[in-house]
Amino acid sequence: MVKNIIIVGGGFTGAQCAKILNDNLPENYQLYLFDIKNYFQYTPSIHKLLTHPHYEKKIKVPYSKFLKKTKIITEPVSKINKDNIKAGKTTHPFDYLIICSGASNKTISWKAKNCFILKNIDDAKKVHDSLQVARCVTIVGGGYVGTEIAGELINKTDKHISLVEKSDRLLSRQYVDAGTLAHNYLTKKGVKLYFNQEIKKFQSSFALTSQREKIMTDLMIWCVGITPNTSFLNKYFKKNSYGQLITTPSLNLQGYKNIFAGGDITDIIEEKSAQNAEYHGEIIAKNILKSINKKKLVNYESKKRTMVISLGDYNSILVMNNTAFDGLIPAFMKKMIEKIIVWKYKYPKSKILIIQDGVESSLLWLKQKAISYHSKVINLRKIYKGKESSKQYDNIRSRSSKKNSRSERRRNNNSKRKRVRSKSKKSSKRKRS
Ligand SMILES: Cc1cc2nc3c(=O)[nH]c(=O)nc-3n(C[C@H](O)[C@H](O)[C@H](O)COP(=O)(O)OP(=O)(O)OC[C@H]3O[C@@H](n4cnc5c(N)ncnc54)[C@H](O)[C@@H]3O)c2cc1C
Repeated sequence: MVKNIIIVGGGFTGAQCAKILNDNLPENYQLYLFDIKNYFQYTPSIHKLLTHPHYEKKIKVPYSKFLKKTKIITEPVSKINKDNIKAGKTTHPFDYLIICSGASNKTISWKAKNCFILKNIDDAKKVHDSLQVARCVTIVGGGYVGTEIAGELINKTDKHISLVEKSDRLLSRQYVDAGTLAHNYLTKKGVKLYFNQEIKKFQSSFALTSQREKIMTDLMIWCVGITPNTSFLNKYFKKNSYGQLITTPSLNLQGYKNIFAGGDITDIIEEKSAQNAEYHGEIIAKNILKSINKKKLVNYESKKRTMVISLGDYNSILVMNNTAFDGLIPAFMKKMIEKIIVWKYKYPKSKILIIQDGVESSLLWLKQKAISYHSKVINLRKIYKGKESSKQYDNIRSRSSKKNSRSERRRNNNSKRKRVRSKSKKSSKRKRS
């Protein structure tokens, strides 16, 4: 009898998991992928569509291209139960289920025209159209999404860009130097930054902040965080106070051996990123294959991973091991990462994969070179500073030694004089006697 494996959501977790299972499942298993859309999108480059909508074709890959044996169902899932899911009017039973429906951007509680979020290609197209008539753009939220959008718009449009952030710096979840680099770059380019403030009101031509500052705004882009897409799950699935699904180290849903969850929807304490989501997909696929073969499951290890934050086409910030640096090399790496991931799906079984492997290893090599170059620069700076300070020290020492020798000479002269005086006194005494 054929057994069903269902994946809900074909984003970073779902697509990666589906790709592995599609190629490795035993004959008696059928894989299903449910999503609202029929393609994989490379979300980290969505902001590029704000200024170049034709970039869409570079970051979009139809599922049918890399999931030849999988049944793709383009319908929103409306209910998930213990042993079946509902999409449209149909109920689909499963033997294994993977929930990876991602997260939605938080939206404003009050209604406002010309206020947008950026989550998918359609959102980006809407913002692009509105940008044609806007002069002043306000970005709300200075996390990596808000910062990347600011970098994109300031480099490729002539709009007045403002960015409002609730905390006291940009990229507040990242290493502090990354925030400083973004801050310096954006202010130099002309982005107006407002910290420790929130948007309280947005009317036709201005936004009002919590510190009662008025910001000229024709278009607002809201990037203040995400909420997991879990509303369609039955009540008996455990969620935490953020609505995230509670998972075990092997990425099972707590209490369910045949249900897994991965990506932005989970309660794993780490940066919600494409990279992490992709790793979840890999682990889940491995564990399903292990479970089918009655083997011990592997655990997911959460790590602080390297992050590249784009600031336009020719500058990005690379954050790793508590250091951050920016420039053309990180920008090139960001571009290559996009190419590699999109190629992986676009050309799943072609010679390109060999090139991809080559590119991946050269990227790794480049990364190592960049790290060693960066640490060399830091060491050189330290040595230079050390030399500078040792030069200064030598100067001080030589000055003080000159001083010392002068005072020593003075002391010697004085003692000579004293000795001469005492000798002459003694001789005069002798003469008198
Ligand atoms: C603008 C933007 C820029 C980003 N930049 C970066 C970056 O530079 N680097 C980085 O590492 N991360 C970045 N991220 C974060 C990254 O995209 C996410 O962490 C990652 O996509 C999460 O993967 P996921 O599989 O959990 O969810 P997603 O990739 O969001 O996939 C979820 C999928 O579920 C589908 N779905 C949702 N509800 C249903 C339903 N009811 N029925 C069926 N299907 C459904 C959706 O259509 C979607 O395809 C960015 C995110 C955004 C929005």
